[in-house]
Amino acid sequence: MAVTSDSAADTATVSAGAAPGPAASESGLGELCVLMKLGEIVLKGSNRKLFERRLHNNIRNAARGLGEIRLTQRGAGVIILRMPGASDLEVAELAERMRNVMGIVWVHQVRRVAKDMDAVTDIAVRSLAGRTGSFAVRARRRDKRFPMTSSEIAGAIGARIKEAHGLPVNLKHPDNTVFVEVDKDEVFVFNDGVPGQGGLPVGMSGRGLVLMSGGIDSPVAAHRMMRRGLKVDFLHFSGMPFTGPESIYKAYSLVRQLDRFQVGSRLFVVPFGKAQQQLKSSGIERLQIVAQRRLMLKTAEALADELKAQALITGDALGQVSSQTMENLTALDDAVDLPILRPLIGMDKTEIMDQARRIGTLTISELPDEDCCTLLTPRQVETAAKIPDLRQIEKRLDAEELAEHLVSTAQLHKPSFLGDAAPARI
Ligand code: ATP
Ligand code: MG
Repeated sequence: MAVTSDSAADTATVSAGAAPGPAASESGLGELCVLMKLGEIVLKGSNRKLFERRLHNNIRNAARGLGEIRLTQRGAGVIILRMPGASDLEVAELAERMRNVMGIVWVHQVRRVAKDMDAVTDIAVRSLAGRTGSFAVRARRRDKRFPMTSSEIAGAIGARIKEAHGLPVNLKHPDNTVFVEVDKDEVFVFNDGVPGQGGLPVGMSGRGLVLMSGGIDSPVAAHRMMRRGLKVDFLHFSGMPFTGPESIYKAYSLVRQLDRFQVGSRLFVVPFGKAQQQLKSSGIERLQIVAQRRLMLKTAEALADELKAQALITGDALGQVSSQTMENLTALDDAVDLPILRPLIGMDKTEIMDQARRIGTLTISELPDEDCCTLLTPRQVETAAKIPDLRQIEKRLDAEELAEHLVSTAQLHKPSFLGDAAPARI
């Protein structure tokens, strides 16, 4: 019979057989809950407790408004969420939200069953009712004291499924899979799962500030860094007062979409039009774009200082546009002391667009707007800006002071994926 027993499974011990088994729900199918498999967090050794605390907190934040959640950590790699009294629909909503919590690799909706082979077999058999094609049973024990081995469990259940539904067994490429996981106090039975985001829990790696245009790239860059455990704030420069507010609406919608991955996002909006005008009238011509970018970075650095962010994040990809040549990127790095993280640096546009589609930002980014950067684009753009030239321009304009002034004009928004109802804890 189909068996995948995992010898590395955690050997949590059963509490002397005294633990009461879970009550079957009214449907008789056992209580529906969410079981999640964790990824890299498992490797974190002595830091694991810290990671777990952060992840549990993030899970609770993401589940806000859904009702009472009971969270159990099982060994290093598994978290179980129960919502006593919740409907299957509510549990499905909880599972959906968990797909966006960084640090979780798989999300399964599972039936929680008493540690009794008859009850487990019954649920396993019923889980394939109406299915066609081949099947396999994968069993594993996190409680090694359970009286049957993984292969015995899989074998016994498989035989009953065959008998009940007449489906053929296919161990290598089954059309249907029944997973049976024997845990400390109960057994979990489920058919499939959906992939989560992977990565590390948000907040584990510190704080960053994302320079967020209304374009395709910067939201993807933000997602990538959140996935590596950065909690991020967002800074958008609008062309106001020389453009309409459309780019701000886009930035707002994008941040609300990204808020699903971290909860508690802050968006700062700075009207940049007059500063751009000032740069332009200093006669810098071909250097306009790089000088604008440097002023954005300086402003971001001043804001990051207030927010205690340790890095700036941009959606730059090498060679994608003229401001992203090696020389110009070097000139941008020179504008600030903080590290500039560019997670998309080696990606093609098509790869970035695929990611944007996957995280649900592409359609928003593709909405029309008037980008502040195209506002005053010179006819010819410098592809190899000289740092001394840029520094000289900035000295004339007192760019540092201008950056401080721009920060003081920033407007704060809190786009939340939960709507306005639930203010987030930051
Ligand atoms: P994006 O799709 O993110 O706009 P892009 O390919 O259009 O990127 P640029 O317009 O050169 O490239 O911008 C490079 C990066 O500079 C952006 O990814 C973003 O991090 C930052 N940036 C550009 N414009 C703005 C803006 N208006 N507000 C905040 N950051 C910006
Ligand atoms: Mg852009």
